[in-house]
This record gives sequence, C-alpha cells and structure tokens, in this order.
Amino acid sequence: MSDTCIFCKIVSQEAKATIVYQDEQVTAFRDLHPVAPTHILIVPNKHIDSVGTLEPEDEQIIGHIFTVARKLAEDEGIVKGGFRMITNTGPHGGQTVFHLHVHLIGGQRMRFPMG
Ligand code: 5GP
Ligand code: ZN
Repeated sequence: MSDTCIFCKIVSQEAKATIVYQDEQVTAFRDLHPVAPTHILIVPNKHIDSVGTLEPEDEQIIGHIFTVARKLAEDEGIVKGGFRMITNTGPHGGQTVFHLHVHLIGGQRMRFPMG
C-alpha cells in the first residue's frame, strides 16, 4: 500500500469509488471519466507501479485480472458484442495513475486505429 496512491486508497475503501468486484487479489471499479457505456478499471490489491515493474511472482495475479475481466464482461452483457482491454504503461503509453490497471471498455463499437 502506498500512502499517496489513489488506487491503493480505493482498494482499502479509504477513497470512494463504485466498486463492482473485489476479492483477496483484485478490485474492480468504474472509471471516474467513462469513455463508453462500460468502463471498469481492474487493479491488483497490492501496489504495482506498472507493467514496467512487474515481477515473475506477479504472473498469477495478472492472469486472475483477465479471468475477472471475463466475469465482469458477462455481468455487463458485453461478451457477445465484444470489448477492449487496455493497459497503458509509462509516459509514452499515456499512463496517468501509477498503480497497474487494466481498462475494460465496451458497450459500443471501439474506434481504430490505436497508437
Ligand atoms: P491511465 O491513463 O493511467 O491508463 O488511466 C487512469 C484512469 O483512471 C483514467 O481513465 C481516469 O479517468 C481514472 N481515474 C483517475 N482517478 C480516478 C479516481 O479517483 N477514481 C476513479 N474511479 N477513476 C479514476
Ligand atoms: Zn497503489
């Protein structure tokens, strides 16, 4: 837990967010500024800055994030239509919150191109 990290505070429920799923490993909550009808952020409960600082021991939790994403996509009714998952990393990746997170975005057709 980092004292200054907003996502750590959301995980510990010190800061407010609309949490849609939580277990001992991950927390999922609605993005403050949604870009589509479904826009959920899935984060590890433990603080990891970004994919740039991932350790081999984090592999299981990253897999779990994808399993939770599929469950949430089902809950949101967006599996059939499809959805997009994005993880921005570092300045060139456009990361603004330095607690690793996966955006789960859907409910409308995504726009291309990326990058
Ligand atoms: P990034 O740009 O790092 O990939 O994504 C950060 C995301 O976090 C943005 O989409 C932004 O809207 C969202 N965000 C930033 N601060 C908060 C907050 O305090 N609460 C919630 N729910 N989302 C936040
Ligand atoms: Zn954090």
